[in-house]
Amino acid sequence: MGEVIDRLRVDNGIARHAPTFIALRRDIHQHPELSFEEHRTSALVARHLRDWGYEVFTGIAGTGVVGRLKKGQGGKTLGLRADMDALPIQETTGLPYASQHPGVMHACGHDGHTAILLAAVRFLAEEGQFDGTLHLIFQPAEEIGAGAKKMIAEGLFERFPCDAVYGLHNWPGVRAGHLGCVEGPAMASIDYAKVTITGQGGHGAEPHRAVDPVLATAHLITALQSVVSRNVDPLEMGVVTVGSIHGGVAANVIPDSVELRLTARSFKPEVRAVIKERVPALAKAQAESLGAHAEVDFQNGFPPVINHPRETAFARDVARDALGDDFVDPHFRPRTASEDFAYLLQARPGSFLFLGNGDSASLHNPRYDFNDAVLAPAAAYWAHLVERYLS
Ligand SMILES: [Zn+2]
Ligand SMILES: [Zn+2]
Repeated sequence: MGEVIDRLRVDNGIARHAPTFIALRRDIHQHPELSFEEHRTSALVARHLRDWGYEVFTGIAGTGVVGRLKKGQGGKTLGLRADMDALPIQETTGLPYASQHPGVMHACGHDGHTAILLAAVRFLAEEGQFDGTLHLIFQPAEEIGAGAKKMIAEGLFERFPCDAVYGLHNWPGVRAGHLGCVEGPAMASIDYAKVTITGQGGHGAEPHRAVDPVLATAHLITALQSVVSRNVDPLEMGVVTVGSIHGGVAANVIPDSVELRLTARSFKPEVRAVIKERVPALAKAQAESLGAHAEVDFQNGFPPVINHPRETAFARDVARDALGDDFVDPHFRPRTASEDFAYLLQARPGSFLFLGNGDSASLHNPRYDFNDAVLAPAAAYWAHLVERYLS
């Protein structure tokens, strides 16, 4: 009974201000800002946090903001993170609150993540019952995988200790408001490679006088699919995707070179290492077998999101109480997309959760929109988590 009354107190407290935060979310949506340029968003977050009585620290990793609220004498500390940046995409939703900045769009729902956390922290400041220190981490530059790392490098966890850290991402195609908790690997590591195959250009009618980089590239693209099928342990996950190929301008001209760009994903460091070793080796060998030459620029992106078992079990428990069993998917599967929350989980225990966005366009799609119906339930969830963790 106590649990039910408690749940109503939080839910009602959040629901009362839900329209304000939906309006705020749409305001952020109208004014999207690219990675490390979140000046307006960051100022808006800082202003609200100050208004609600938080200690506010700005300028961490440029546009990053941390809010601190301490209640009681408890020594426990907790961090909640929201990301704030948008993407270089031209919005085509046609919504009344569509982006006012040409070529920039909140196509990943970070406007929603920011508004969810603000809704939760307003309630926690005004009516929240907890004993300890809460740190709100409003992070810049998630989309380029740089913000989390930079905040940590600038002393995030030394200045703002967190016994545990949590974050969430909305997920299109998952029933609205449903929460997914995944123990262990939850999202993949991400790496990139640029491969330049150089031959010797010539007349398309006289291939015997040229070294054809197009043919070498064709062989390489096929061969690259053997990395996952023949080098990675069949019981593990790996992805190698060639997403870009550029070379040549005319049907009857053999070009000097062709450029490929690929991305690689995995959950485990062993798999990541296999891909990093095999892609350049194959590129060089394939090119040389046809008289061409390959240059490979392999760029490490960021590590996989590995959720800590204890903190994930706790998050799932809270979700069952706060949202009800029907809204918690016990079999939610890991995703092969990537998130720089990975760095926060390397530094501190915690968990990264998935929040159903319903039947919307996919993330990074020009028609995507965050589902405002999940804002209040998700904010209530954060509030429950804080009250339970800092009790
Ligand atoms: Zn994104
Ligand atoms: Zn995102």
